[in-house]
Amino acid sequence: MTVAELPEVARIARDLIRFDTSNWGEGRANPERPAADYVSALLSNLGLDVQTFEAEPGRTNVCARVEGRDRDRPALVLHGHLDVVPAVAADWSVDPFAGEVRDGMLWGRGAVDMKGMDAMIISSLSELHRAGEKPSRDVIVTFFADEEAGGERGSARVVAERPEWFAGATEAISEVGGYSVEVAGRRTYLLQVGEKALLWLRLSARGVAAHGSAVHADNAVTALAEAVVKIGRTPWPVQLTGTTAALLERFRQIAQTDETDPDALAALAGPAQRFIRASLRTTTNPTGLTAGYKHNVIPDHAEALIDVRTLPGTEDDVLAAIQDIVGDDIEITTVTRDIGLETPFAGDLVDAMVRVLGEHDPGAPVVPYLMGGGTDNKALSRLGIVGYGFAPLRLPADLDFTGMFHGVDERVPVESLVFGQRVLTDLLRSN
Ligand SMILES: [Zn+2]
Repeated sequence: MTVAELPEVARIARDLIRFDTSNWGEGRANPERPAADYVSALLSNLGLDVQTFEAEPGRTNVCARVEGRDRDRPALVLHGHLDVVPAVAADWSVDPFAGEVRDGMLWGRGAVDMKGMDAMIISSLSELHRAGEKPSRDVIVTFFADEEAGGERGSARVVAERPEWFAGATEAISEVGGYSVEVAGRRTYLLQVGEKALLWLRLSARGVAAHGSAVHADNAVTALAEAVVKIGRTPWPVQLTGTTAALLERFRQIAQTDETDPDALAALAGPAQRFIRASLRTTTNPTGLTAGYKHNVIPDHAEALIDVRTLPGTEDDVLAAIQDIVGDDIEITTVTRDIGLETPFAGDLVDAMVRVLGEHDPGAPVVPYLMGGGTDNKALSRLGIVGYGFAPLRLPADLDFTGMFHGVDERVPVESLVFGQRVLTDLLRSN
């Protein structure tokens, strides 16, 4: 398949990958504006009135409203983000920002997270427009900046400063769900109905500075290291929520097994178990260490960063438990905190997503899942909007898709994007 032969959805995804919108966090990012201008032009071509908002110059958020057939019904938000996590080109088999097409796949940073879905959203609207059709209800299409750094210049600011963009909306659809995994050899779709909460913590240990040759008990590095080891090795217990209990029950049915151990059931999903197992418990991963400035000086303080993801609503309990684990001498600072979400796997929109997937891939089970990470749905929830992860992709059994998120050689089959665009278009027609 050459670039000229690409279907529209893959061509748009490729174009978006070729804008390097890397986001390193803490305000350091290549601006989203070129990608935002590109999607704005495509939306304008559909006759839509496009609005933009920049929290900082270049960090562009985009919004347009598509009139539906029934304007009395609440609107549906379709949203994507335009930024990506950085890529170290030397580690990749291809240039991560070239949008190469090879072996029937589109390669590049953002192919999966989430320029592929951005393209599916636009090409679905454009297919309806070409056919002279309207979505069943109003659709608010939004492309956010800065998702990969928590949305400070993206969804969080847009929700605070442009809430009118979402007037009348009750539900939202976006990334990290709706894709297929193999469960006991059977293609199964994971529909995301919740996200864990997030606590980014800094642990600080204080001691007394001294010469590196001293007999010295009060060493901040030693105290901090002990705390980090304890946190990193804590086996957090499985705690099932409504979503994960339902997910594991469906896995039991699909595999026709009597197995009851949650981790063993999660393992039926093969490589995708890394997402499933993380949804069953709290995780506390040390991700950074800072201490010292000279090989022969014992520093008087040391710091560690811990990425904590808790089940929705358990943040305070987990914080207390972590303080117990590390002891009172370690000071814990919450750097970033964000809520968890969980919504029932039920209702008209869920039924419609399940039905439309079933029409396009008959007989494949669709099961609910809770996501370990977070999305812009957290910010939208502050406006009372219930969000789902539904970026539908029918994927080949041998593709380790969950490993593609923020991974090396991120890629997506072109035919999976075409599948997703068809599912999404039918959902907009009929939900
Ligand atoms: Zn993403």
